[in-house]
Amino acid sequence: MKKYVYLFGESINEGNATQVELLGGKGANLAEMSSLSIPVPPGFTIATPACNLFLKSNFLSKSIKREAIKSLKKIEKVVSKGFGDTGNPLLLSIRSGAKVSMPGMMETVLNIGLTSKTIPALIEKTQNPRFVYDSYRRLIMMYSDVVMEKAEQKNDIKIREKLESILDKYKSKKSILNDCDLSCEDLQKLIKKFKNQIKKSFKTEFPDSCEEQFWGAIEAVFKSWNGKRAIQYRNIENIPHNWGTAVNVQTMVFGNLGKNSATGVAFTRNPSNGDDNIYGEWLENAQGEDVVAGIRTPKPINKSSKTLQTRKNRTLEATWPNIFKQLIIIKEKLEKHYRDMQDIEFTIEEGKLWMLQTRKGKRTGEAAIKIAIEMNEKNLINKKEVINRIVSKNLDEIMHPKVDPELEKINSPVESGLPASPGGACGQIVFSATDAEKWHKNNKSVILVRHETSPEDVQGMHVSQGIITAKGGMTSHAALVARGWGKACIVGCSNLNIDLKHKTVSINNVTYKEGDWFTINSTEGLIYNKKLNLVKSNFFKNKYFLKLMSLTNKFKKLKIRTNADNPKDASLSKKLGAEGIGLCRTEHMFFDKRRIRSVQKMILSKSDSDRKKAIMELLPYQKNDFYKILKEMSPNPVTIRLLDPPLHEFLPSQKNTDLINLLAKSMKISAKEIKNRIIDLFEINPMLGHRGCRLAISFPEITEMQVEAIFSACAKLLNKGFKPNPEIMIPLVSTIGEFDNQKKVIKKVAKKLNEKLKINLKYKIGTMIELPRACLTADQIAEKADFFSFGTNDLTQTTYGFSRDDIGGFIQDYFDNNILTEDPFKTIDQEGVGSLVKLAVKKARQSKPKIKIGICGEHGGDPKSIYFFNNINLDYISCSPFRIPIAYLAAAKAAFRS
Ligand code: PEP
Ligand code: MG
Repeated sequence: MKKYVYLFGESINEGNATQVELLGGKGANLAEMSSLSIPVPPGFTIATPACNLFLKSNFLSKSIKREAIKSLKKIEKVVSKGFGDTGNPLLLSIRSGAKVSMPGMMETVLNIGLTSKTIPALIEKTQNPRFVYDSYRRLIMMYSDVVMEKAEQKNDIKIREKLESILDKYKSKKSILNDCDLSCEDLQKLIKKFKNQIKKSFKTEFPDSCEEQFWGAIEAVFKSWNGKRAIQYRNIENIPHNWGTAVNVQTMVFGNLGKNSATGVAFTRNPSNGDDNIYGEWLENAQGEDVVAGIRTPKPINKSSKTLQTRKNRTLEATWPNIFKQLIIIKEKLEKHYRDMQDIEFTIEEGKLWMLQTRKGKRTGEAAIKIAIEMNEKNLINKKEVINRIVSKNLDEIMHPKVDPELEKINSPVESGLPASPGGACGQIVFSATDAEKWHKNNKSVILVRHETSPEDVQGMHVSQGIITAKGGMTSHAALVARGWGKACIVGCSNLNIDLKHKTVSINNVTYKEGDWFTINSTEGLIYNKKLNLVKSNFFKNKYFLKLMSLTNKFKKLKIRTNADNPKDASLSKKLGAEGIGLCRTEHMFFDKRRIRSVQKMILSKSDSDRKKAIMELLPYQKNDFYKILKEMSPNPVTIRLLDPPLHEFLPSQKNTDLINLLAKSMKISAKEIKNRIIDLFEINPMLGHRGCRLAISFPEITEMQVEAIFSACAKLLNKGFKPNPEIMIPLVSTIGEFDNQKKVIKKVAKKLNEKLKINLKYKIGTMIELPRACLTADQIAEKADFFSFGTNDLTQTTYGFSRDDIGGFIQDYFDNNILTEDPFKTIDQEGVGSLVKLAVKKARQSKPKIKIGICGEHGGDPKSIYFFNNINLDYISCSPFRIPIAYLAAAKAAFRS
């Protein structure tokens, strides 16, 4: 016969921690603790299949009832008490416990078994009538709410509120502040009032039968699996609805039995910094719900748990050193057994310590890393387990400042968007890059709010604490640039109504003006309309972080490169572990105000000679930057991508008269001519327009200048004994003809310069694979190319036909309608884009088995995508500097999982 009920408790234990699916997390761990001889009040778990059966038929089968009663009898024997007994009555707690913790979503009833018959017996036994009546009024409050109201779906009665209001009125009438100051008489009076209210509300008496209470509570807990809150929580957390909850029926132990009793909760290590000290709170003469409900302020259990508010309170360690010692022994036992930090609940009943729960403790990123490393040092877990326990969110958390989590708990965001670059930022809002710079000069912290950003905004973006854009997706300009800098950024906040003229933004009909304070949590994509404190980070000095990184390095197969376009980022990324640069976007080297003018002049020039002049203005900048970047990375490779400026990002807007006048002056032509040229160059689809190699095919002098800059920089480095390792990359190739055209230009200049500069520079010529046609003809291209680098941003754009700059405006509709579950610009779409990548790799290696292949789209910093790239045997991934540690972690996990 199928077994539905499992006993736990030292001498009668039937379950263990592996049975989480059957017994729920709480039940399985109560059983496990029992088997470790940790004092657990005995009880039994009615397993999850019973819940599903009950929910189907709406009654408990006879066989399950029989099993439960049989188990109850065993418990009675173990504790020498009887349920409903008028001599030595047993009271029970009845709690939910699903496979995964669903905090506060399901129900619990305590003190089951108190009736007019058992109350006198318990008073007689405890000689503590106040305790008995206090327990009874708690039972009435919980039972009427959970069983009589919620389980019966009489949700409009709101009995809990009514009883609480009776209690509050009574207390204020008698000038009583705390519940624990209610006398025995007060409690008896209140119980009477409660019962009257219950009768009035439900037209029935409060049940005075132990059996009725017992089955009523069990059924109510099962029903709470399908309560509104629980269903909503499961939908959000993607928890299957068919798991069901277990019910744990357990002997009550009382922390509210008097001065020698208490209740508490603790983490076996500090959950915020990971210190190996038990960390928790306790309350004398109280039941668990008092700690959770915040009715009284709990005290710290030891010195290291003290906070500013509780620094003067007496600790459990000082009050009852013996019990504290027992708690430490249990901590050691649990950690040794579970090999992880635990979150525990305990009760002290008249000097005896009982454990009520243990589960894996939630922790911050800093704590997660420290705990895992220290547990490895103590041989509790192996190196692979250390890596497996850390998730990318842990690293994000320690690498960036973040909004104080305590403040986030009590504040609600006013808007949300796509979390483009993780971290937290706080500042006064401004609406233009120029204003950002002005405010910054006046020592103000600003958050830049824009429809979208362009290279013109870069300086203002740089001085801002954080960036918010109404448009754009995960690979839009703002997202790419902010991620590169590790700056907080949220994009695609389509509800923002920005009025540039009046310098205001409206969100849900509330208008905010320039200078108003905003705080953003860009790890989650949340915007707050106020100033919230940030918690800073100093991860470079965190020795546990450094140890974790060196561990990941031992396991990973993929090389980790970085996307860096300037010497500062190159140096930072080297410090973070970059093994080369996988993408130097040369157009990003011109974001500086003076430099961008030269690019604009180059684009706007009509005659060859003017263009040549503008291009030659760029040469010294390029030479200088290439020199510094190649030096920083020597002898590691630096992939320099030839110019790829989508025209809309670099052309001034027709309305920007100031800029047009400035350019007119510097180009010595009329503003009207500039305007006309802008109109001539206007493209309907600039992302698919005259960019990448197409621009260089029209104007080969651009490539010539860039190759000259690379060779001149390398010559200088070679003379100084460095080993520059440049890889020249041709962007946006779709046919072998385009590649051949550019390769020829590069080779011609290279030959000339090798001779002229008297060097013999070794260099590679490769291409980005970022268009479907390039994937389909990868075999032809591979014959001529030294390397491939997948540009998965453009490849995603062109495979889906989703504009990377416009997807922010509609992607939420795709999520809401379950058309997409993940943003394909963040996590590689394995079925579609991924298939093209796989095909291209296969074709390329067929024609050139040793061709070096990497990826430099934003997916290179996304853990799920990294698993995919590892599994299809790419040689390297390249990501923005602040993603490097995450890439190391993901690459290590991928290596030993594949
Ligand atoms: C890409 O398309 O994936 C890429 C890296 O290039 P960019 O983002 O500069 O277009
Ligand atoms: Mg691209």
